Amino acid sequence: MRCLTPLLLSLLAAAAAQAQPYDIVLAHGRVLDPATGLDAVRYVGIRGTQIAAVSETPLQGRTVVDATGLVVAPGFIDLHQHGQTPENYRFKARDGVTTALEMEVGVSPVPEWYRAREGKSLINFGASSGEIPARIAVMHDSGTFLPRDAAEHAATPEQRRAIYSLVRRGLDEGALGIGMGIAYVPAASRAEILELFGLAAQYKTAVYVHIRDGGPVEPGVVDALQEVISDAAITGASLHVVHITSMALRQTGLCLDMIRGARRHGLDVTTEMYPYTAGMTDIGSAIFNPGWQAKQGGITYHDLQWALTGERLTAESFARYRKIGGMVAVHSIPEDIVRLAIADPMTMIASDGILQNGKGHPRAAGTYARVLGRYVREQHVLSLMEAVRKMTIMPAERLGVPRKGRIEVGCDADITVFDPARVIDRATFANPAQYSQGIPYVLVNGTFVVRNGELVSGVEPGKGLRRP
Ligand SMILES: [Zn+2]
Repeated sequence: MRCLTPLLLSLLAAAAAQAQPYDIVLAHGRVLDPATGLDAVRYVGIRGTQIAAVSETPLQGRTVVDATGLVVAPGFIDLHQHGQTPENYRFKARDGVTTALEMEVGVSPVPEWYRAREGKSLINFGASSGEIPARIAVMHDSGTFLPRDAAEHAATPEQRRAIYSLVRRGLDEGALGIGMGIAYVPAASRAEILELFGLAAQYKTAVYVHIRDGGPVEPGVVDALQEVISDAAITGASLHVVHITSMALRQTGLCLDMIRGARRHGLDVTTEMYPYTAGMTDIGSAIFNPGWQAKQGGITYHDLQWALTGERLTAESFARYRKIGGMVAVHSIPEDIVRLAIADPMTMIASDGILQNGKGHPRAAGTYARVLGRYVREQHVLSLMEAVRKMTIMPAERLGVPRKGRIEVGCDADITVFDPARVIDRATFANPAQYSQGIPYVLVNGTFVVRNGELVSGVEPGKGLRRP
């Protein structure tokens, strides 16, 4: 679906002919628009918050950026960004992300969360209505982000009704779908999860889910994926399975084929991945209940890396840190699995990022530049157009936001300009708080947030995305 009708387009063209200069012109860049397949040198004119012209011939602008040799792409849309603070938004913007959404864990209550960011954000933001925060509130769990005690247990019938109505209220208040982390609430029954899929179907929206189990040992990734695909088939809800590689590990190919099969038979199932060989989560969470080594494909304490210090763990330090909780990197995903998944046309790119005072997983800062630099330019795992598609129109279509993820007249002027010869991530596990490079310009709703390779200070053009 295009942003404007042909009639409006021709009216706009007539108006443009009257030679009003555009606010901003991105001149002579290589425009990549995966939604239409456009890959050609163009002049992009921006008026206010929207793209007003995509022209083969030069345009007049009050501000003209020479984009010769650079790619002009739709701004990247990150469906899976936990860090929703000014610090995190700066790293996102420098990685080319113009919209960062908390879809997996989600939020509750929804209006307060949006209100805290409206008019104060560098980039666009949004969230799902989260089953986890609803459960934390209803069951009085001591966790803040992920459950740590009460919410890991089975809910009483009254609690279950209260969770359901909180999640439903979040949808009424504009949340972009339902967020679910079944692995973090292992006592949530299959009936309880199915009921929430029914709610998503009723609202014609998607469930964004961290599935019940991962890894090769049953209960593991295959039966966990079967659970949510069944729930989607039974209810008619759309389903988005988060970070497929960290769940499926060596069975990623099989799991992608399961999703492909479901799609072929008419189900709306999508998935995403981050381009790293390690995940990260809270060491205090249910992920590290007894048996975690086998569930993660046979890893050991040494494959865990404490985010605050970068140290590899031992049985002793694991026990110590598990008591206090905190972020730990889990080195469990083989590199050939990352490549296999990134080359698959079904996977979207999403970061699962969060930085706190500069500490965290490098994916928070480097996901998008890493795909473009390492996997497109250096390793030729996928084409540039294909990579940009996974970062823009695919997530936009998953969300159902027609004005995002496109370089087309009438669309929101969320635009990322990068140098395909230089773009690369710099964030590492030892030092994750390093900006990506080779992304000189980023616009959010027609306002520069990155200019000449630097963050622009004092601008907050980001808007909240809500369910239409
Ligand atoms: Zn997750």
